[in-house]
Amino acid sequence: MTPTPRIVVLSAPSGGGKTTIAKALRARYPDRFGFSVSATTRKPRAAEQDGVDYRFWKPSQFLAGVKDGQFLEHAQYGGELYGTLRSDVQKILESGRHVLLDIEVNGASQVRRLDSEALTIFILPSDPRVLVQRLVERRSESSEEIQRRLERAIEEISDARLFHRWIRNDDLDEAVESVKRAADEHPARFARDPKDIPWLKRYLVDLQSERQRPLR
Ligand code: ADP
Ligand code: 5GP
Repeated sequence: MTPTPRIVVLSAPSGGGKTTIAKALRARYPDRFGFSVSATTRKPRAAEQDGVDYRFWKPSQFLAGVKDGQFLEHAQYGGELYGTLRSDVQKILESGRHVLLDIEVNGASQVRRLDSEALTIFILPSDPRVLVQRLVERRSESSEEIQRRLERAIEEISDARLFHRWIRNDDLDEAVESVKRAADEHPARFARDPKDIPWLKRYLVDLQSERQRPLR
């Protein structure tokens, strides 16, 4: 039997791998997963396409969308606005597929409050040095922006209690299959309280010291 389609929120600190995992899931399981294309006021990066990666909207258009109730959730990140369009989510669910949302932690918490069936997943590599290295090697942000994103990462990891599942993105294939299994499992199971996850405290301490090192 085909599992009931639901919202699957993928959150991760910047560089954690949510975009890569969402793309791999759609490529591998095109008739099981769709992706909601968010609207944002930020500028496109090289190779990003309007309507594919994001809908690049002017701030006035975004604010009008908020006023009209077009967004399921929206939040600010790095001084820009980002939001999930209700119409996109609806369309994908009606096609019988899970809908992947690649969104930050505030948005994830809004979705949790609105939809008790939604599954929220937090993704990150086991080693904080790998997180920093992937972010640097992606070469899409300036070093100041990377510093800001690392600061935000520390806050987001501290907020992780909100999430049903924590998935480590070390081996990409394993991470993709873990998300697939969790999406098909009803009802959502809660991971242990992250306060009880012994490596979490250490992770935050290590990430804090990585952040203070000069970026390579
Ligand atoms: P996010 O969307 O969470 O900011 P990305 O998906 O852009 O993160 O991943 C950050 C960088 O890490 C990208 O360059 C991506 O190719 C790389 N990456 C992601 N997952 C893995 C993995 N499992 N192994 C190696 N590199 C990875
Ligand atoms: P980026 O600028 O790197 O593409 O995204 C920055 C952050 O915004 C990421 O954490 C990403 O998951 C988040 N984001 C992207 N789209 C949305 C959205 O529609 N809503 C919210 N709340 N966050 C989003």
